[in-house]
Amino acid sequence: MKGPFKVQCWLKRFYRRGPRFQKYLKILKRTQFYTPTELQIYQDQALQKMVYHCYRNIPYYQDLFRALKLSPNDIQTGADLQKLPLLDKKTVQENYDKLISKKHHNFLCSMGTTSGSTGMPGRFIRDYDGINFEHAVVWRHWQKAGDSGKRRISLRGEIIVPAAQTHPPFWNYNSANLELQMSSYHLSRDNSVHYIDKILEFQPKILYCGPSMGHVLAKFFKYHQVDYQFDAIFTSSESLETDVRSYIESVFQCPIYDWYGQAERVVAIGENSICRRYHIQEDYSIVEFLPVAEQNCYELVGTQLCNYVMPLLRYRTCDYIYSNSQNTPATACECGSYFRSVERILGRSYGYLLTPEGYHIAITAHIPVGVDNVIEAQFYQEKIGEVTLKVLTNGRFTDVDRERLVLNTLKHTSPFMKVSVQEVDDIPRGPNGKFINIINKMESLN
Ligand SMILES: [Zn+2]
Repeated sequence: MKGPFKVQCWLKRFYRRGPRFQKYLKILKRTQFYTPTELQIYQDQALQKMVYHCYRNIPYYQDLFRALKLSPNDIQTGADLQKLPLLDKKTVQENYDKLISKKHHNFLCSMGTTSGSTGMPGRFIRDYDGINFEHAVVWRHWQKAGDSGKRRISLRGEIIVPAAQTHPPFWNYNSANLELQMSSYHLSRDNSVHYIDKILEFQPKILYCGPSMGHVLAKFFKYHQVDYQFDAIFTSSESLETDVRSYIESVFQCPIYDWYGQAERVVAIGENSICRRYHIQEDYSIVEFLPVAEQNCYELVGTQLCNYVMPLLRYRTCDYIYSNSQNTPATACECGSYFRSVERILGRSYGYLLTPEGYHIAITAHIPVGVDNVIEAQFYQEKIGEVTLKVLTNGRFTDVDRERLVLNTLKHTSPFMKVSVQEVDDIPRGPNGKFINIINKMESLN
């Protein structure tokens, strides 16, 4: 490694994992076991500080508070947040400059972006504290599941090598993250042997990936009949379906610990390694469950507690969960936490298929599971009741596979759905490198 690059990596690591990170990690290791009362006090104090800052320094909130005739004293608790309107992505984009703090210092901030699949890409600024806080929350999740800094690889949709590159290496060792980052874009049938050889040589214990990428990698290990065991796999960025989880876990003979977050950084949900429940990280933000028509289904709404450059209060994530209760549990979970748990996390709201009956089908990742010779499948809809499955195959895709895919789709969507299957050479990733399971081009969904 060259000198200046080494310094750059060290600085980057220090920036993200320096004293501020350590400070937050120490606090978070305590707050994760807070009782409901302690948690309430912690959240209220952080909220009061944030609201006061918004009132003093953020033009958008200054106007809003004035219009609503509110002062910071009117918002003392999470329940008081109801006095403020919900904030959506469109409003953020329209008021972008007004949402940035007047005390903003550019040099230590970083930009997060969201996918433009709804036709509206988003930009969100995070400050030094916000970034370190975020890293500490995620690191707590990894550490609890046994990652103490083991050898690891990642397949997270980042651009690692140029798209046009046709020969290995399709990976790069990132000293700042201490991991071998592998390109998600080059993991094809032809290149899969190179990936497997590299993994066998590197001998990682941990895999970080999006579920779709981990799924593809597992398929190639099985296809080439190569046996490999990780200690743990950490997934994030996409919905993790039960069948996909079991497939990856069985191929790599280890548990998966899933994580949910978003570029806006308003809600974090982690799967605990002891109880294996999805717990809302209540010390990260204030999370509201916004009811929707379907029973026990809610949209996640979050209020940041630690990003002062561009704070989002009551931000609508457009992500949905199923939960049996909106309330903080009266007793601690077996993992020791009082954080609320959710039964299931659904994908983004644009990720729906609409059936002829008008049902919204959000979960499709399990449909191709068990159909041989399919590497990836994407559901593409332009008209109600019609769907095309774009499939990337291993070259041995048969009419029997095709028929099974159609039957599975009918079974999991609607028997009246018109289904066609189209073999493709490539399924392009969406913005941010995310695999998009469903592309819906119907006007009504945007
Ligand atoms: Zn638990």
